[in-house]
Amino acid sequence: MFVLLANCVFAQKTKEEVFKSIDSKYDQYTNIAHRIWEFAEVGYQEVKSSELLQETLSKAGFKMQKGVAGIPTAFVATYGSGKPVIAILGEFDALPGVSQDAVPEVKSVPGRASGHACGHHLFGTASSAAAIAVKDWLVANKKPGTIRIYGTPAEEGGSGKVYMVREGLFSDVDVVLHWHPGSLNSASFGSSLANKSGKFRFTGVASHAAASPERGRSALDAVEAMNNMVNMMREHVPSETRIHYVITRGGEAPNVVPAFAEVYYYVRHPDRSQVVAIWERVVKAAEGAALGTETKMQNEVTGGVYNLLANEALSKTMDTNLRLVGGYTYTEQEKDFAQKIQKTFTSAVPKLESTSTIIGFGANGDKGGSTDVGDVSWVVPTVGLSTATWVPGTPAHSWQAVAAGGMSIGSKGMMMAAKTLAGTAMDLFDSPAVIEEAKKEFDNKRPGDFKYQALVGDRKPALDYRK
Ligand SMILES: [Zn+2]
Repeated sequence: MFVLLANCVFAQKTKEEVFKSIDSKYDQYTNIAHRIWEFAEVGYQEVKSSELLQETLSKAGFKMQKGVAGIPTAFVATYGSGKPVIAILGEFDALPGVSQDAVPEVKSVPGRASGHACGHHLFGTASSAAAIAVKDWLVANKKPGTIRIYGTPAEEGGSGKVYMVREGLFSDVDVVLHWHPGSLNSASFGSSLANKSGKFRFTGVASHAAASPERGRSALDAVEAMNNMVNMMREHVPSETRIHYVITRGGEAPNVVPAFAEVYYYVRHPDRSQVVAIWERVVKAAEGAALGTETKMQNEVTGGVYNLLANEALSKTMDTNLRLVGGYTYTEQEKDFAQKIQKTFTSAVPKLESTSTIIGFGANGDKGGSTDVGDVSWVVPTVGLSTATWVPGTPAHSWQAVAAGGMSIGSKGMMMAAKTLAGTAMDLFDSPAVIEEAKKEFDNKRPGDFKYQALVGDRKPALDYRK
């Protein structure tokens, strides 16, 4: 009788109990996140990071599909069957050039060239933690439905999810959940910038730069001519446009006319049709530069993502769960770390205590960045949140983000995200009406004749874009 009663209580597992079960695995998930933080593997090279998450999910009983969409580090992990199908996205790629230790002053880690400056080590781990908790809850309550996690590589410039969407991997999914590390707690909804990126490679003729310059044709001249034209073009594009470039190859020695040079471009705008049109003009500048410098030009589109399609109905549900989970406070040690980090910022920063609060719910406009979650959000109703995994005031892609992400502040924010994702998924399994409302909003927001077309066209994943 006693046993039966105990089982009965277990079967009714409340959200509070699910949150507690996630909290009880704080050390395990912190350890996983920390290992991925140390691997710091960049886009499409996240072999160990992806394996660690796959192993964690597989041990928890998820069925694994590895190397999906032609990407060795992409995976889909599924538990359960039938409807609804609720999916959670998990990222794990690091950024090149941001090697940083988990200390509150600039200090790179010897032998490590990259770093988790966007917190994707926390992203993949929290999403896995949430999926496992939801799976346990489905089992305990004998609930029908499918919980799935998508291991999505190369978010930073590699557009990993785009290939997974193009492959139709999301075709049976009802709702997609995601989150992102940040410096505040919010489930407000907004969009992001559509983005197209690629490399322009110029080939000229090498020659002695002093003895026979007339016999050379400089590929670097071509890059500079192209950049000049694009920089002048900035005056004649819509004002929300963002164009940035880095010269990735510019020659090796000043006394050799560079026979090869390469420049890597990003074009962003809230509207993806503008991105496509401006990209075409950038290509023309490259063609013009090649013509004028008598070099040859070849261009490769390496990435392209949609803007995010927000879903207010789903965001409301997520906001309710985020408030239920609540924020967190710092220990004395964390406070000391956070104060030191805040002293490195030159502009005004929010109070440290803001980690204990949730930002007021509402539309938060377009964010400056881009994400390949955008493509997912145009084929399935999608919702996300952000939690304070970084010291308030920390910008993404900074050494301060790597530092906080490698210690307990990162873990605390990560656990908040895991619980909020789990609570939101539970609500979706229990309330078909919310899914229906979300789908209605989704259908209303997409043009009737919408047909998904990847901005990267039909190219294969750019598996070597970070090499
Ligand atoms: Zn990111």
